[in-house]
Amino acid sequence: MKRKNFKLPLSGHIIDVQWVEDLIDDHEASGDWSHENWAIRLDSGLTKPEAQAILIHECSHAVSDVYGLKLEENQIRVLAEGLQQMLAKFLKEIK
Ligand SMILES: [Zn+2]
Repeated sequence: MKRKNFKLPLSGHIIDVQWVEDLIDDHEASGDWSHENWAIRLDSGLTKPEAQAILIHECSHAVSDVYGLKLEENQIRVLAEGLQQMLAKFLKEIK
C-alpha cells in the first residue's frame, strides 16, 4: 500500500511527514525527526497504531527541538506514550 506524505504545522514552519520503505532508525524506532530538514520519516510498513505511536514520539522530538526544551530520550518516550494512551479516546470525546 502506497501511503501519502503529508505536512504538519509547527511554530510557523511546515514539517514534511514522509513514508520511507525499510527505514532503519538509530534509536530502534521506525521513525526519525530531522530539525535540519524539517522532516519526520516513518517506515511505510508500520501498522496504523504503530505509525500513530511513532508519529507522536517524533512530533515530541520536534517540539522539544524547535522550542529548545532539550528533553532526553527517556522523557520523550514517556511523554509520547502517555499522550498516545489518551489521544484516541479524547479525539472521540470532543465533538
Ligand atoms: Zn526518540
